[in-house]
Amino acid sequence: MSNQRPALVVGNWKMHGRLAGNAVLLQHVAQGARALPQDVRVGVCVPFPYLPQAQALLDGSPVAWGAQDVSAHEQGAYTGEVAAEMVAEFGAAYAIVGHSERRAYHGESPELVATKTQRALAAGLTPIVCVGETLEQREADATRDVVGAQLDAVLAVLSADDAARIVVAYEPVWAIGTGKSATSEQAQEVHAFLRERLAAKGAQVADVPLLYGGSVKPDNAVELFRQPDIDGGLIGGASLKDADFLAICAAAAAVADSAS
Ligand code: PEP
Repeated sequence: MSNQRPALVVGNWKMHGRLAGNAVLLQHVAQGARALPQDVRVGVCVPFPYLPQAQALLDGSPVAWGAQDVSAHEQGAYTGEVAAEMVAEFGAAYAIVGHSERRAYHGESPELVATKTQRALAAGLTPIVCVGETLEQREADATRDVVGAQLDAVLAVLSADDAARIVVAYEPVWAIGTGKSATSEQAQEVHAFLRERLAAKGAQVADVPLLYGGSVKPDNAVELFRQPDIDGGLIGGASLKDADFLAICAAAAAVADSAS
């Protein structure tokens, strides 16, 4: 974590939650986040139907909210899809795009993810663009090629000014939901590579927040966040437990404090 870039910790609830449990979780996270320093930003990306609930319970708190996907279309006959503009109407700040679960289970191509990124930006949302390699790709020494191509597809359709408004999350597929996080060295190496790629797009893009995601827990967060090119985390499983999520946010605060 560098002292120039604020830390960012975002929860990805995936397809979890029910109204009653969400209310408790959101209230506890909002309450806990009040104790965090201002240079640590916190967000939660909830399933679409819970956006109004997130808005009602988080408005005025230090916690921002967002969605986990947006349609590549602006509007129209696309049954089941949700437009970025609709997400924005609920006060959302973020939209995850290109999560590996969407790439794998819904066949999302790099070009589709790029279009979704454009839609999110056009709606005033901050897209959190996920990139990451599978275990087979890592073992074939193709990590840089894979994440580089995923990022390049997005950067290719954006101006440098728009590219400066995105967040990138490096999420090795083999580390998601497996309890097997990348080591801090493995993560830093890929983050440094992604940082170079971003900087090549323009000076203003070099400081795009780069989050690590994949089995981040309270006990490994400090070590990961200590890396110079890791600006925070995208948190899946641990974001469903208020104490764990807040402990990860506190880890970001501790590292940011020691870096300043
Ligand atoms: C994710 O799916 O974005 C994620 C990082 O999951 P987990 O933290 O559960 O590995």
